[in-house]
This record gives sequence, C-alpha cells and structure tokens, in this order.
Amino acid sequence: MNVGFIGLGHMGGPMSLNLLRAGIAVTVHDLHRDAAEQQLALGATWADSPARLAAQVDVLVTMLPGPRQVEAVLLATGVAEALPAGSVWLDMSTSTPEAARNVGVVLERRGVHRLDAPVSGMAKGATDGTLQIFVGGEAAVLQRCRPLLEVMGDPERIFHVGGHGAGYTVKLMVNLLWFCHLVASAEVLTMGVKAGVDLEVLRQSLIASPAQSNFLENDVLGILERGDYDESFAMVLACKDLGLAVDLSRDVGVPVELSALVEQIYRRGKAKYGDLAGEMIPVRLYEDLAGL
Ligand code: NAD
Repeated sequence: MNVGFIGLGHMGGPMSLNLLRAGIAVTVHDLHRDAAEQQLALGATWADSPARLAAQVDVLVTMLPGPRQVEAVLLATGVAEALPAGSVWLDMSTSTPEAARNVGVVLERRGVHRLDAPVSGMAKGATDGTLQIFVGGEAAVLQRCRPLLEVMGDPERIFHVGGHGAGYTVKLMVNLLWFCHLVASAEVLTMGVKAGVDLEVLRQSLIASPAQSNFLENDVLGILERGDYDESFAMVLACKDLGLAVDLSRDVGVPVELSALVEQIYRRGKAKYGDLAGEMIPVRLYEDLAGL
C-alpha cells in the first residue's frame, strides 16, 4: 500500500514515523521541508507538491491544522483532482463535515473514497501509537484503512461513529467537553486553594467524589508536577476547535451558553499568553487573576 502523508506537525510527525516503522511505504509533504527530516531518515520519499504526492497513493492521510488548510490543500493545490480513482482520502485533522463535503463533491465525481478519522490522545498518543480514532464514513472503506489506523492508534479504541462527517462531530464534542472540564476545574481548584484548602487535598477529595474527571485525575498532573501546560497542543488550535464547536451549535440550532463562555475564556488566554501557549494555559489565567 502506498501512503501519502501531508502535515508533519506535532501529531502528523510521529504518526507518519509510526507508519514508516511498521514497514509501510510513505511519501510525505509539508509546507516546511525541515519537518520531514526524521521521516526521510527512515526511508520516506519527499514530494515537492501535494498534487504530485496525491497522484501516486492508495491512501492519502492529511493531518492539517483545520478546515481552512484542509480545503486549501485538497482543492486549491489540485490534490482532489490528482488522487487516483479507487484511492482513499483519510482526513485525521480536527476539521468540519462542511469542509469535507466541499472536497467530497470533487472526490465522488472521480471515484475517490473518503473517511474522516480525527483523533484524541495528545502528542504522546501520536508518538506511542495509542490514539483514539473517531471514524466517519463507509464501513468497507474503514476496513481497508484499518491496518493503517491500528498502527497509529489503539486497535481497541478505533470507533466507527457514523457516516461522513460524524467523526469530526464526535471529535469536536470530545474537545468541547474536555475544555469545559478544564475551565470548571481551574475555577474550582483556584477558589478552594484561595479559601485555604491544600491543593492536593482538594484534588484528591474531588477525584474521590462524584465531581471527579480525567482532567483532575491525570491531565492536570503535567501542570502540577512539571509546570507543563502542553505546548504540543497550541492555544491557536484549541480556540479553533472551540470556534468550530460553537459554529456547529448554531448550525444545528442548539443554544450553548456554557460552551460560548468557555470559548471566550480560551480566547482571553490566547490573547494573554500567545497563540503557541499550551492548551492548559487557562489554568494559569485563573491563578493570575486570583493572585496565586
Ligand atoms: P501542527 O500545527 O503542529 O502541525 C500542522 C502541520 O501542518 C505543520 O507541520 C504545518 O507546516 C503543516 N501545514 C499547514 N498548512 C499546510 C499546507 N497548506 N500544506 C502542507 N502542510 C501544511 O498541528 P498539530 O498539533 O499536529 O495538529 C494537527 C491536527 O490534529 C489539528 O487539526 C489539531 O486540531 C489536531 N489534534 C492535535 C492534537 C495535539 O495534541 N496537538 C491532538 C488531537 C488532535
């Protein structure tokens, strides 16, 4: 199977390396050739343009920042027109059903299949090959792509969640709830500590109670133990995801006051600490506001 991989960043970099280590032939492309250094050392082929790459693949994997870049690469650079009939476009970016539909119009005309397969599990999961993958599209196409997905993700956590676009929707809901957990936890921990309770005593009490969450139990440890706000997932991408989720709420006619507020708090964090600050930096926003 010839695989093409476009987007070699925090996630696509290690994911493509895992494909290469599994003995799969991979041709790579990124806006920045430097990003492909490790892949080329492991035997990947470099393609000078996305369309040249697309013309020779059985499966094209994209791991791009969001819908704007997905449409730019697939439509503006001619990738959708270059993919061979019978090949598969496997988009693992956190994008939108709408962007994929626009691309899908061209692909369907040309007999190219597509799956949306966005992921969770952070850069660590991409490196370890233990991502959770939410797949939207036809079961038969998923079956064809499963060997690739099982290299990049945890075979037990590859979820077929519905037809085209359902994977993107589930992924946006996963992130939305996680960001809500983070902001709510930051508010509660900051308040409890300012009121005089020891941070670890408070955290353990919350974990032992019905208020427990994965954020409190695991993710917050990066901040507490290493001052690490997870720069491998930048605030610019977190705000992109929150914006897409709130847009979706409008499209489907569901009022989301809490999500809109969480988006505002995230945007404030991005303005204060910068686009490249880690996704958990809103915790610091609370600490700073509380003078801790
Ligand atoms: P990133 O910014 O680190 O990497 C994106 C890569 O795409 C970069 O190497 C960039 O040069 C390349 N790129 C951008 N535009 C391009 C174009 N027009 N042509 C070719 N290459 C282009 O982002 P990331 O953190 O790897 O995230 C990728 C996707 O995965 C995003 O949709 C993100 O929301 C999602 N995601 C990220 C994480 C995480 O922890 N970082 C976790 C789950 C999902």
